[in-house]
Amino acid sequence: MAIDFKEELKNMNIENMGKQHFFIQTYGCQMNEEDSEKLSGMLKRVGYTKTEVLEEAGIIIYNTCCVRENAENKVFGNLGELKHLKKKNPDLIIAVCGCMMQQEGMADKILKKFPHVNIIFGTHNAYKFPEYLNRVRTEGVQVKEIFNKETDIVEGVPIDRQSDVKAFVTIMYGCNNFCTYCVVPYVRGRERSRKSDDIINEIKDLVGKGYKEITLLGQNVNSYGKELEENIDFAKLLRKINEVDGIERVRFMTSHPKDLNKDVILAIKECDKLCEQIHLPVQSGSDKILKKMNRHYTKEYYLELVDMIKKEIPDVSLTTDIIVGFPGETEEDFLETLDLVERVGYDSAFTFIYSRRNNTPADMMLNQVPDADKHHRFDRLIKAVNDGVIRSNKVYEGKVVEVLVEGPSKNDETKLTGRTRNGKLVNFVGENIKAGDLVNVKIVRAQPFSLIGEV
Ligand code: SAH
Ligand code: SF4
Repeated sequence: MAIDFKEELKNMNIENMGKQHFFIQTYGCQMNEEDSEKLSGMLKRVGYTKTEVLEEAGIIIYNTCCVRENAENKVFGNLGELKHLKKKNPDLIIAVCGCMMQQEGMADKILKKFPHVNIIFGTHNAYKFPEYLNRVRTEGVQVKEIFNKETDIVEGVPIDRQSDVKAFVTIMYGCNNFCTYCVVPYVRGRERSRKSDDIINEIKDLVGKGYKEITLLGQNVNSYGKELEENIDFAKLLRKINEVDGIERVRFMTSHPKDLNKDVILAIKECDKLCEQIHLPVQSGSDKILKKMNRHYTKEYYLELVDMIKKEIPDVSLTTDIIVGFPGETEEDFLETLDLVERVGYDSAFTFIYSRRNNTPADMMLNQVPDADKHHRFDRLIKAVNDGVIRSNKVYEGKVVEVLVEGPSKNDETKLTGRTRNGKLVNFVGENIKAGDLVNVKIVRAQPFSLIGEV
Protein backbone atom coordinates (compact mmCIF):
# COMPACT_ATOMS: atom_id res chain seq x y z
CA MET A 1 0.00 0.00 0.00
CA ALA A 2 1.31 3.42 -0.92
CA ILE A 3 1.13 6.39 1.41
CA ASP A 4 -1.08 9.11 -0.08
CA PHE A 5 0.58 12.49 0.37
CA LYS A 6 -2.72 14.38 -0.01
CA GLU A 7 -4.13 12.51 3.00
CA GLU A 8 -0.93 13.12 4.95
CA LEU A 9 -1.13 16.82 4.20
CA LYS A 10 -4.70 16.99 5.56
CA ASN A 11 -3.45 15.57 8.86
CA MET A 12 -0.53 17.95 9.10
CA ASN A 13 -2.63 20.79 10.43
CA ILE A 14 -0.73 23.52 8.64
CA GLU A 15 -3.11 26.45 8.53
CA ASN A 16 -0.70 29.20 9.51
CA MET A 17 2.31 28.48 7.40
CA GLY A 18 3.17 32.11 6.60
CA LYS A 19 4.43 33.21 3.20
CA GLN A 20 8.15 33.13 2.72
CA HIS A 21 10.88 32.53 0.19
CA PHE A 22 12.81 29.31 0.30
CA PHE A 23 16.21 28.44 -1.12
CA ILE A 24 17.18 24.86 -1.81
CA GLN A 25 20.65 23.52 -2.51
CA THR A 26 21.02 19.99 -3.83
CA TYR A 27 24.14 17.86 -3.62
CA GLY A 28 24.70 14.57 -5.43
CA CYS A 29 22.82 12.53 -7.98
CA GLN A 30 19.64 12.76 -10.07
CA MET A 31 17.63 11.02 -7.34
CA ASN A 32 18.52 13.84 -4.99
CA GLU A 33 17.59 16.38 -7.66
CA GLU A 34 14.22 14.70 -7.98
CA ASP A 35 13.79 14.66 -4.20
CA SER A 36 14.51 18.39 -4.15
CA GLU A 37 11.89 18.94 -6.82
CA LYS A 38 9.47 17.26 -4.41
CA LEU A 39 10.59 19.33 -1.41
CA SER A 40 10.13 22.41 -3.53
CA GLY A 41 6.74 21.16 -4.76
CA MET A 42 5.52 20.61 -1.19
CA LEU A 43 6.63 24.07 -0.09
CA LYS A 44 4.95 25.72 -3.05
CA ARG A 45 1.78 23.74 -2.28
CA VAL A 46 1.64 25.24 1.21
CA GLY A 47 2.18 28.77 -0.11
CA TYR A 48 5.92 29.43 -0.19
CA THR A 49 7.88 30.94 -3.08
CA LYS A 50 11.18 29.67 -4.45
CA THR A 51 14.20 31.96 -4.71
CA GLU A 52 17.63 31.46 -6.22
CA VAL A 53 19.06 34.17 -3.94
CA LEU A 54 20.33 32.79 -0.64
CA GLU A 55 20.13 36.11 1.20
CA GLU A 56 16.48 36.59 0.25
CA ALA A 57 15.34 33.28 1.77
CA GLY A 58 13.45 32.79 5.04
CA ILE A 59 14.02 29.04 4.73
CA ILE A 60 17.23 27.41 3.53
CA ILE A 61 17.31 23.69 2.74
CA TYR A 62 20.40 21.57 2.11
CA ASN A 63 19.60 18.24 0.50
CA THR A 64 22.79 16.30 1.10
CA CYS A 65 24.80 13.46 -0.45
CA CYS A 66 27.25 11.11 1.25
CA VAL A 67 28.44 8.89 -1.59
CA ARG A 68 31.90 10.47 -1.40
CA GLU A 69 33.66 12.41 1.32
CA ASN A 70 34.01 15.62 -0.71
CA ALA A 71 30.22 15.88 -1.07
CA GLU A 72 29.98 15.82 2.74
CA ASN A 73 32.73 18.38 3.18
CA LYS A 74 30.89 20.83 0.96
CA VAL A 75 27.83 20.60 3.20
CA PHE A 76 29.89 21.24 6.34
CA GLY A 77 31.54 24.25 4.71
CA ASN A 78 28.26 25.75 3.54
CA LEU A 79 26.49 25.17 6.88
CA GLY A 80 29.29 27.06 8.62
CA GLU A 81 28.82 30.01 6.31
CA LEU A 82 25.12 30.24 7.22
CA LYS A 83 26.03 31.25 10.77
CA HIS A 84 26.35 34.91 9.85
CA LEU A 85 23.05 34.91 7.93
CA LYS A 86 21.31 33.50 10.98
CA LYS A 87 22.86 36.21 13.14
CA LYS A 88 21.44 38.90 10.85
CA ASN A 89 18.06 37.16 10.69
CA PRO A 90 17.30 35.03 13.78
CA ASP A 91 13.96 33.96 12.21
CA LEU A 92 15.78 32.23 9.37
CA ILE A 93 14.91 28.51 9.27
CA ILE A 94 17.67 26.11 8.22
CA ALA A 95 16.79 22.54 7.26
CA VAL A 96 19.24 19.75 6.42
CA CYS A 97 18.04 16.50 4.86
CA GLY A 98 18.97 13.72 2.46
CA CYS A 99 21.40 10.81 2.44
CA MET A 100 23.98 12.23 4.85
CA MET A 101 21.34 12.37 7.60
CA GLN A 102 20.74 8.61 7.33
CA GLN A 103 24.28 7.89 8.52
CA GLU A 104 24.64 6.87 12.11
CA GLY A 105 25.53 9.78 14.38
CA MET A 106 25.60 12.35 11.58
CA ALA A 107 22.50 14.32 12.63
CA ASP A 108 23.84 14.75 16.17
CA LYS A 109 27.24 15.72 14.83
CA ILE A 110 25.62 18.43 12.71
CA LEU A 111 23.46 19.75 15.53
CA LYS A 112 26.47 19.93 17.82
CA LYS A 113 28.67 21.70 15.28
CA PHE A 114 25.91 23.88 13.82
CA PRO A 115 23.34 24.61 16.56
CA HIS A 116 21.73 27.18 14.24
CA VAL A 117 20.20 24.30 12.22
CA ASN A 118 16.43 24.07 12.91
CA ILE A 119 15.28 20.92 11.10
CA ILE A 120 16.90 17.60 10.30
CA PHE A 121 15.18 14.78 8.49
CA GLY A 122 16.24 11.75 6.42
CA THR A 123 15.45 10.22 3.05
CA HIS A 124 12.48 8.12 4.24
CA ASN A 125 10.44 10.90 5.86
CA ALA A 126 10.94 13.82 3.46
CA TYR A 127 7.19 13.86 2.83
CA LYS A 128 6.74 15.13 6.39
CA PHE A 129 8.75 18.28 5.75
CA PRO A 130 5.75 20.69 5.81
CA GLU A 131 4.79 19.32 9.22
CA TYR A 132 8.30 19.82 10.63
CA LEU A 133 8.41 23.33 9.26
CA ASN A 134 5.11 24.14 10.86
CA ARG A 135 6.31 22.85 14.22
CA VAL A 136 9.40 25.01 14.10
CA ARG A 137 7.32 28.04 13.12
CA THR A 138 4.54 27.64 15.64
CA GLU A 139 6.27 25.94 18.59
CA GLY A 140 9.79 27.33 18.12
CA VAL A 141 11.31 23.88 18.65
CA GLN A 142 14.23 22.21 16.90
CA VAL A 143 13.07 19.15 14.96
CA LYS A 144 15.21 16.08 14.35
CA GLU A 145 13.41 13.07 12.91
CA ILE A 146 15.02 10.29 10.93
CA PHE A 147 13.36 6.98 10.09
CA ASN A 148 15.96 4.24 10.01
CA LYS A 149 13.81 2.01 7.83
CA GLU A 150 12.11 2.69 4.52
CA THR A 151 8.35 3.42 4.54
CA ASP A 152 5.84 2.42 1.89
CA ILE A 153 6.20 4.44 -1.29
CA VAL A 154 4.65 7.89 -1.03
CA GLU A 155 2.46 8.85 -4.00
CA GLY A 156 0.94 12.20 -4.90
CA VAL A 157 3.73 14.49 -3.71
CA PRO A 158 3.62 17.67 -5.81
CA ILE A 159 6.76 18.08 -7.94
CA ASP A 160 8.20 21.47 -8.87
CA ARG A 161 10.26 20.48 -11.90
CA GLN A 162 13.36 22.35 -13.00
CA SER A 163 12.64 22.05 -16.71
CA ASP A 164 9.49 22.47 -18.82
CA VAL A 165 10.76 20.10 -21.48
CA LYS A 166 12.25 17.08 -19.74
CA ALA A 167 11.37 15.44 -16.44
CA PHE A 168 12.64 12.79 -14.07
CA VAL A 169 10.24 10.01 -13.14
CA THR A 170 11.36 7.74 -10.31
CA ILE A 171 10.31 4.14 -10.93
CA MET A 172 11.97 2.52 -7.93
CA TYR A 173 13.70 3.41 -4.70
CA GLY A 174 16.58 1.85 -2.78
CA CYS A 175 19.19 -0.74 -3.67
CA ASN A 176 19.88 -4.36 -2.67
CA ASN A 177 23.29 -4.72 -4.26
CA PHE A 178 25.69 -3.74 -1.51
CA CYS A 179 28.71 -2.99 -3.65
CA THR A 180 31.43 -2.95 -1.01
CA TYR A 181 32.42 0.73 -1.49
CA CYS A 182 28.90 2.17 -1.55
CA VAL A 183 26.67 3.70 1.13
CA VAL A 184 23.52 3.92 -1.00
CA PRO A 185 21.89 0.69 0.28
CA TYR A 186 22.38 1.89 3.87
CA VAL A 187 20.94 5.37 3.36
CA ARG A 188 18.23 4.61 0.79
CA GLY A 189 16.96 1.26 2.08
CA ARG A 190 15.87 -1.84 0.19
CA GLU A 191 14.54 -1.93 -3.36
CA ARG A 192 10.88 -1.07 -3.82
CA SER A 193 9.09 -0.33 -7.07
CA ARG A 194 6.22 1.96 -7.88
CA LYS A 195 3.15 0.37 -9.41
CA SER A 196 3.26 0.66 -13.18
CA ASP A 197 -0.12 2.44 -13.24
CA ASP A 198 1.22 5.17 -10.94
CA ILE A 199 4.22 5.62 -13.24
CA ILE A 200 2.08 5.71 -16.38
CA ASN A 201 -0.32 8.21 -14.82
CA GLU A 202 2.57 10.49 -13.89
CA ILE A 203 3.88 10.32 -17.45
CA LYS A 204 0.44 11.05 -18.93
CA ASP A 205 0.18 14.03 -16.63
CA LEU A 206 3.58 15.23 -17.87
CA VAL A 207 2.45 14.88 -21.48
CA GLY A 208 -0.57 17.03 -20.63
CA LYS A 209 1.79 19.71 -19.33
CA GLY A 210 3.81 19.69 -22.54
CA TYR A 211 6.82 17.61 -21.48
CA LYS A 212 8.65 15.87 -24.32
CA GLU A 213 11.27 13.75 -22.61
CA ILE A 214 11.40 11.67 -19.46
CA THR A 215 14.27 9.98 -17.66
CA LEU A 216 13.25 7.01 -15.54
CA LEU A 217 15.23 6.90 -12.32
CA GLY A 218 16.28 4.11 -10.00
CA GLN A 219 19.55 2.93 -8.45
CA ASN A 220 19.17 -0.26 -10.40
CA VAL A 221 16.30 0.06 -12.88
CA ASN A 222 16.72 -3.46 -14.17
CA SER A 223 15.42 -4.82 -10.87
CA TYR A 224 12.17 -2.93 -11.40
CA GLY A 225 9.04 -4.81 -10.42
CA LYS A 226 10.67 -7.77 -8.63
CA GLU A 227 8.63 -7.33 -5.45
CA LEU A 228 5.40 -6.13 -7.11
CA GLU A 229 2.34 -8.34 -7.33
CA GLU A 230 1.66 -7.34 -10.92
CA ASN A 231 3.25 -9.33 -13.74
CA ILE A 232 5.86 -6.83 -14.83
CA ASP A 233 9.59 -6.32 -15.23
CA PHE A 234 11.68 -3.44 -16.54
CA ALA A 235 11.47 -4.41 -20.21
CA LYS A 236 7.67 -4.71 -19.97
CA LEU A 237 7.47 -1.35 -18.23
CA LEU A 238 9.52 0.25 -21.03
CA ARG A 239 7.17 -1.16 -23.64
CA LYS A 240 4.16 0.07 -21.70
CA ILE A 241 5.64 3.58 -21.46
CA ASN A 242 6.40 3.56 -25.16
CA GLU A 243 2.64 3.31 -25.77
CA VAL A 244 1.91 6.63 -24.03
CA ASP A 245 0.90 9.16 -26.70
CA GLY A 246 2.70 12.47 -26.77
CA ILE A 247 5.98 11.63 -25.11
CA GLU A 248 8.86 11.86 -27.59
CA ARG A 249 11.85 10.46 -25.76
CA VAL A 250 12.41 8.05 -22.89
CA ARG A 251 15.74 7.46 -21.13
CA PHE A 252 16.62 5.63 -17.93
CA MET A 253 19.36 5.24 -15.38
CA THR A 254 21.08 3.37 -13.82
CA SER A 255 21.57 -0.14 -15.22
CA HIS A 256 23.70 -2.66 -13.37
CA PRO A 257 25.67 -4.74 -15.92
CA LYS A 258 24.76 -7.97 -14.10
CA ASP A 259 21.04 -7.27 -14.56
CA LEU A 260 20.80 -5.59 -17.97
CA ASN A 261 19.28 -8.29 -20.14
CA LYS A 262 18.43 -8.92 -23.77
CA ASP A 263 14.74 -8.09 -23.24
CA VAL A 264 15.68 -4.52 -22.30
CA ILE A 265 18.13 -4.20 -25.20
CA LEU A 266 15.44 -5.43 -27.62
CA ALA A 267 12.92 -3.01 -26.11
CA ILE A 268 15.30 -0.13 -26.88
CA LYS A 269 15.85 -1.49 -30.38
CA GLU A 270 12.17 -1.93 -31.14
CA CYS A 271 10.43 0.95 -29.34
CA ASP A 272 10.62 4.26 -31.19
CA LYS A 273 10.58 6.47 -28.09
CA LEU A 274 13.31 4.69 -26.17
CA CYS A 275 16.52 6.61 -26.78
CA GLU A 276 19.69 4.88 -27.94
CA GLN A 277 21.61 5.54 -24.77
CA ILE A 278 22.61 3.29 -21.89
CA HIS A 279 24.38 4.30 -18.70
CA LEU A 280 26.25 1.15 -17.72
CA PRO A 281 28.62 1.74 -14.79
CA VAL A 282 31.58 -0.60 -15.03
CA GLN A 283 33.53 0.69 -11.97
CA SER A 284 36.71 -1.24 -12.85
CA GLY A 285 38.24 -3.33 -15.63
CA SER A 286 40.02 -5.74 -13.30
CA ASP A 287 38.29 -9.02 -12.43
CA LYS A 288 40.07 -9.11 -9.09
CA ILE A 289 38.78 -5.64 -8.16
CA LEU A 290 35.28 -6.29 -9.53
CA LYS A 291 35.10 -9.31 -7.26
CA LYS A 292 36.24 -7.30 -4.24
CA MET A 293 33.65 -4.68 -5.17
CA ASN A 294 30.92 -7.37 -5.15
CA ARG A 295 29.85 -6.46 -8.67
CA HIS A 296 29.05 -10.03 -9.91
CA TYR A 297 30.49 -9.71 -13.44
CA THR A 298 33.86 -9.95 -15.14
CA LYS A 299 35.56 -7.69 -17.66
CA GLU A 300 34.90 -10.29 -20.35
CA TYR A 301 31.20 -10.48 -19.49
CA TYR A 302 30.94 -6.69 -19.60
CA LEU A 303 32.70 -6.46 -22.97
CA GLU A 304 30.42 -9.17 -24.41
CA LEU A 305 27.41 -7.25 -23.16
CA VAL A 306 28.73 -4.09 -24.82
CA ASP A 307 29.24 -6.00 -28.08
CA MET A 308 25.69 -7.29 -27.96
CA ILE A 309 24.33 -3.79 -27.29
CA LYS A 310 26.34 -2.28 -30.14
CA LYS A 311 25.20 -5.02 -32.51
CA GLU A 312 21.50 -4.59 -31.69
CA ILE A 313 21.51 -0.77 -31.37
CA PRO A 314 24.08 0.59 -33.84
CA ASP A 315 23.78 4.30 -32.89
CA VAL A 316 23.91 3.60 -29.17
CA SER A 317 25.77 5.90 -26.88
CA LEU A 318 27.34 4.26 -23.84
CA THR A 319 28.26 6.07 -20.65
CA THR A 320 29.68 4.78 -17.41
CA ASP A 321 30.99 5.34 -13.88
CA ILE A 322 34.56 4.34 -12.97
CA ILE A 323 36.35 4.32 -9.63
CA VAL A 324 40.15 4.40 -9.34
CA GLY A 325 42.11 3.53 -6.23
CA PHE A 326 39.79 0.90 -4.75
CA PRO A 327 41.63 -1.01 -1.96
CA GLY A 328 44.13 -3.46 -3.37
CA GLU A 329 44.09 -1.94 -6.89
CA THR A 330 47.56 -2.36 -8.39
CA GLU A 331 49.02 -0.69 -11.47
CA GLU A 332 48.17 -3.89 -13.43
CA ASP A 333 44.54 -3.71 -12.27
CA PHE A 334 44.38 -0.09 -13.31
CA LEU A 335 45.82 -0.91 -16.75
CA GLU A 336 42.92 -3.37 -17.16
CA THR A 337 40.55 -0.44 -16.58
CA LEU A 338 42.38 1.72 -19.15
CA ASP A 339 42.24 -1.14 -21.63
CA LEU A 340 38.50 -1.53 -21.11
CA VAL A 341 37.91 2.21 -21.54
CA GLU A 342 39.78 2.13 -24.84
CA ARG A 343 37.92 -0.93 -26.06
CA VAL A 344 34.43 0.36 -25.24
CA GLY A 345 34.95 3.98 -26.39
CA TYR A 346 32.49 5.65 -24.01
CA ASP A 347 30.49 8.71 -25.01
CA SER A 348 31.06 10.08 -21.54
CA ALA A 349 32.10 8.80 -18.14
CA PHE A 350 31.84 9.91 -14.54
CA THR A 351 35.22 9.21 -13.01
CA PHE A 352 35.79 9.00 -9.27
CA ILE A 353 38.65 8.62 -6.86
CA TYR A 354 37.74 5.93 -4.34
CA SER A 355 36.50 7.52 -1.13
CA ARG A 356 36.48 5.57 2.15
CA ARG A 357 32.97 5.39 3.59
CA ASN A 358 32.41 4.47 7.21
CA ASN A 359 31.03 1.00 7.93
CA THR A 360 31.30 -0.22 4.34
CA PRO A 361 33.23 -3.48 3.75
CA ALA A 362 35.79 -1.74 1.52
CA ASP A 363 36.66 0.68 4.29
CA MET A 364 37.78 -2.26 6.39
CA MET A 365 39.91 -3.80 3.61
CA LEU A 366 43.69 -3.80 3.89
CA ASN A 367 45.88 -2.35 1.15
CA GLN A 368 44.21 1.05 0.86
CA VAL A 369 45.83 2.79 -2.11
CA PRO A 370 48.05 5.81 -1.33
CA ASP A 371 46.58 9.18 -2.39
CA ALA A 372 49.43 9.95 -4.79
CA ASP A 373 48.76 6.71 -6.74
CA LYS A 374 45.03 7.41 -6.80
CA HIS A 375 45.60 10.86 -8.28
CA HIS A 376 48.16 9.66 -10.81
CA ARG A 377 45.72 6.99 -12.03
CA PHE A 378 42.82 9.42 -12.01
CA ASP A 379 44.65 11.83 -14.35
CA ARG A 380 45.50 9.06 -16.79
CA LEU A 381 41.93 7.74 -16.68
CA ILE A 382 40.49 11.15 -17.51
CA LYS A 383 42.81 11.45 -20.47
CA ALA A 384 41.80 8.00 -21.77
CA VAL A 385 38.10 8.79 -21.34
CA ASN A 386 38.42 12.17 -23.05
CA ASP A 387 40.35 10.72 -26.00
CA GLY A 388 37.48 8.27 -26.50
CA VAL A 389 34.83 10.97 -26.16
CA ILE A 390 36.56 13.16 -28.76
CA ARG A 391 36.78 10.20 -31.11
CA SER A 392 33.09 9.40 -30.67
CA ASN A 393 32.09 13.05 -31.15
CA LYS A 394 34.16 13.42 -34.35
CA VAL A 395 31.94 10.84 -36.02
CA TYR A 396 29.09 13.37 -35.95
CA GLU A 397 30.83 16.08 -38.04
CA GLY A 398 28.80 16.63 -41.21
CA LYS A 399 25.86 14.51 -39.97
CA VAL A 400 22.31 15.69 -39.39
CA VAL A 401 20.88 14.86 -35.95
CA GLU A 402 17.51 15.34 -34.25
CA VAL A 403 17.81 17.74 -31.31
CA LEU A 404 15.25 18.35 -28.58
CA VAL A 405 15.64 22.06 -27.83
CA GLU A 406 16.05 22.98 -24.16
CA GLY A 407 16.48 26.77 -24.55
CA PRO A 408 19.29 29.29 -24.95
CA SER A 409 22.83 28.01 -24.38
CA LYS A 410 24.18 28.91 -20.95
CA ASN A 411 27.62 29.91 -22.22
CA ASP A 412 26.60 31.64 -25.43
CA GLU A 413 23.23 33.44 -25.56
CA THR A 414 23.36 33.64 -29.37
CA LYS A 415 23.02 29.87 -29.56
CA LEU A 416 20.37 27.36 -28.59
CA THR A 417 21.10 24.18 -26.77
CA GLY A 418 19.63 20.68 -26.70
CA ARG A 419 20.46 17.02 -26.92
CA THR A 420 20.42 14.33 -29.57
CA ARG A 421 18.46 11.14 -29.03
CA ASN A 422 21.57 9.47 -27.70
CA GLY A 423 22.29 12.26 -25.29
CA LYS A 424 24.96 14.36 -27.04
CA LEU A 425 24.89 18.04 -26.12
CA VAL A 426 24.46 20.27 -29.20
CA ASN A 427 24.83 24.06 -29.30
CA PHE A 428 23.52 25.54 -32.51
CA VAL A 429 22.24 28.62 -34.33
CA GLY A 430 18.68 28.77 -35.54
CA GLU A 431 15.70 31.13 -35.72
CA ASN A 432 12.08 30.90 -34.58
CA ILE A 433 12.81 27.88 -32.46
CA LYS A 434 11.65 27.42 -28.89
CA ALA A 435 12.27 25.07 -26.00
CA GLY A 436 10.48 21.77 -26.58
CA ASP A 437 10.86 21.84 -30.39
CA LEU A 438 12.45 18.89 -32.17
CA VAL A 439 14.73 20.19 -34.92
CA ASN A 440 17.20 18.68 -37.37
CA VAL A 441 20.64 20.14 -36.87
CA LYS A 442 23.70 19.73 -39.06
CA ILE A 443 26.84 19.24 -36.99
CA VAL A 444 29.65 21.47 -38.23
CA ARG A 445 32.22 20.88 -35.51
CA ALA A 446 32.83 18.38 -32.71
CA GLN A 447 34.25 19.64 -29.44
CA PRO A 448 35.34 17.53 -26.46
CA PHE A 449 32.12 18.06 -24.50
CA SER A 450 29.63 19.26 -27.09
CA LEU A 451 28.77 19.43 -30.77
CA ILE A 452 28.39 22.71 -32.66
CA GLY A 453 25.74 22.84 -35.36
CA GLU A 454 23.27 24.80 -37.46
CA VAL A 455 19.68 24.16 -38.39
N1 SAH B 1 23.19 3.05 -8.46
C1 SAH B 1 24.08 3.66 -9.33
C2 SAH B 1 24.82 4.86 -8.81
C3 SAH B 1 25.36 4.86 -7.44
S1 SAH B 1 26.36 6.15 -6.87
C4 SAH B 1 25.00 2.58 -9.85
O1 SAH B 1 25.10 1.53 -9.30
O2 SAH B 1 25.62 2.82 -10.84
C5 SAH B 1 27.11 6.77 -8.32
C6 SAH B 1 28.53 6.37 -8.52
O3 SAH B 1 29.34 6.86 -7.47
C7 SAH B 1 28.81 4.89 -8.54
O4 SAH B 1 28.49 4.30 -9.76
C8 SAH B 1 30.28 4.83 -8.23
O5 SAH B 1 31.05 4.91 -9.41
C9 SAH B 1 30.51 6.08 -7.40
N2 SAH B 1 30.78 5.77 -6.00
C10 SAH B 1 29.96 5.18 -5.11
N3 SAH B 1 30.59 5.02 -3.93
C11 SAH B 1 31.83 5.53 -4.06
C12 SAH B 1 32.96 5.66 -3.20
N4 SAH B 1 32.94 5.22 -1.96
N5 SAH B 1 34.07 6.26 -3.71
C13 SAH B 1 34.11 6.70 -4.97
N6 SAH B 1 33.09 6.59 -5.83
C14 SAH B 1 31.96 6.02 -5.39
FE1 SF4 C 1 25.74 1.58 -4.80
FE2 SF4 C 1 26.17 -0.69 -6.10
FE3 SF4 C 1 23.67 -0.04 -5.31
FE4 SF4 C 1 24.85 1.34 -7.28
S1 SF4 C 1 24.31 -0.84 -7.34
S2 SF4 C 1 23.72 2.17 -5.56
S3 SF4 C 1 26.97 1.37 -6.67
S4 SF4 C 1 25.41 -0.50 -3.99
